[in-house]
Amino acid sequence: MADMEYRRLPHGGEEISVIGFGTGFNEFPGHEAMVRTIRFALDSGINLLDLTPWDARVLGAFGEALRGRREDAYLQIHFGSDYPSGTYERIHGLDRVRKAVERQMAQVGTDYIDFGFIHCLDDPQVFEDEFSNGTIDYLLKLRDEGIVRHVALSTHTPSIANRVLDEGFLDLLMFSINPAYDYQHGQYAFGGTDERAELYTRCMTDGVGISVMKPFSKGQLLDPSLSPFGKGLTVNQCLQYALDKPGVVSVLPGIKGMDDLRGVLSFLDSTPEERDYSVVRTFSPPDVSGRCVYCNHCQPCPRGINVGLVNKYYDLVLAGDALAADHYMNLSLKAGDCVGCGHCNDVCPFHVDQVRRMAEIRDRFGQ
Ligand code: SF4
Ligand code: SF4
Repeated sequence: MADMEYRRLPHGGEEISVIGFGTGFNEFPGHEAMVRTIRFALDSGINLLDLTPWDARVLGAFGEALRGRREDAYLQIHFGSDYPSGTYERIHGLDRVRKAVERQMAQVGTDYIDFGFIHCLDDPQVFEDEFSNGTIDYLLKLRDEGIVRHVALSTHTPSIANRVLDEGFLDLLMFSINPAYDYQHGQYAFGGTDERAELYTRCMTDGVGISVMKPFSKGQLLDPSLSPFGKGLTVNQCLQYALDKPGVVSVLPGIKGMDDLRGVLSFLDSTPEERDYSVVRTFSPPDVSGRCVYCNHCQPCPRGINVGLVNKYYDLVLAGDALAADHYMNLSLKAGDCVGCGHCNDVCPFHVDQVRRMAEIRDRFGQ
C-alpha cells in the first residue's frame, strides 16, 4: 500500500492524515474486531480519529487500541455527546457535558483532547444557549489550561459555521461534504452551492482546517439505487472530491470494520483516472456550470500547468486570503505560462472558459 498522505493544520502545524477514522452510526462489530481495526488504521498512518460512535462500546475499543500509543493519534472529542443507555445521545447543559467529556476521556484513557468539539450544531438557538449555559466557556477554559489543544465545531449548516467562525476561536471545522449535499440533495444538504463553496474558501482563508464527515452521504452515493443522481460514485471519487475542496485537511468515512477500512485505504493506491469525479458535472444544477471546481480533469496541460491549483489560489486571493498570492507566486508554472491551446476548454466537464480565466489570472498577478 502506498504511504499515507498528510496535510498541515494551519493553526498548530500538526500533520493530519488525509484519511481519518470516522465512527458514526455503525453497528458494533465486537470488541476484538474493533480494536484490531483501529490498530490497523494507526499502523496504516491514519492519525485523526473521531469519537462519536453510535455504540458506547466503541469507546472502550479505542481505549484499548490506543494503550501505549496515544501520541500516534489526534482525537476529536465532542462536547455534547453521551451514552446514558449505551447508545449515542445529544446532550445539553454544562454539568451533563462536563461529566460526559470526563467519562469519555477516562474510557479512551487520555488526559488531553486534541480537538474539543462544539458538537453537532445546526440550530442557531442552541449555539446561543451553549454560550449562555457555560458549555463553550468550559471548552475554552480547557483550551487555556492545555487540556484541549484545539477548539473545533461540527455542523452541517454553513450559516452556523460562519457564525462560529466569526468568534475567531476555531481551529477545525467538521463539515459534511459530498456532491449530493453540495448540489442540494439529501438530508444534510444545507445551504446553496455558492454558500457552501464560500464556506470552504473562508476556512482556508481563516486558517481553519476542515475535517469532512459523511463523504458518501451516509453511503447513498455509493449505491446507484439510493444515489439521488440515479448513478453511483466510488469511494475514490468521493474522497478525492472532498479532498479537493479548499481548507480540507482530512476526510473521515464511517468505518465499522476491517473491510471498510481496507476499502478507504485503497484510495492511496488508486490512479488519477479512478479518482476522477468529473461525472458529477452531469449531476450539478445548470447554474454551477462555468465555475472551476479544481478537479484537474483537464490534465495533462501541455504546458504542465496545475490548472486546478492555479484556480484555487486565485479564488482564495479573491476571497481575501493574504497567503494565497504567495502560494501562487511560488508555483513553478503560472497562468502566464498558458499558451491558450484550448485543451482545457475542450475537455472541462464544467464548461469553464479556462483560456479566458488564465488570461485574467495572469493579468492579476502579472505572470
Ligand atoms: S478547468 Fe474544468 S476540468 Fe480543469 S480543474 Fe477546473 S473544473 Fe476541473
Ligand atoms: S489553455 Fe493554457 S492552461 Fe489550458 S491546457 Fe492549454 S496551456 Fe494549459
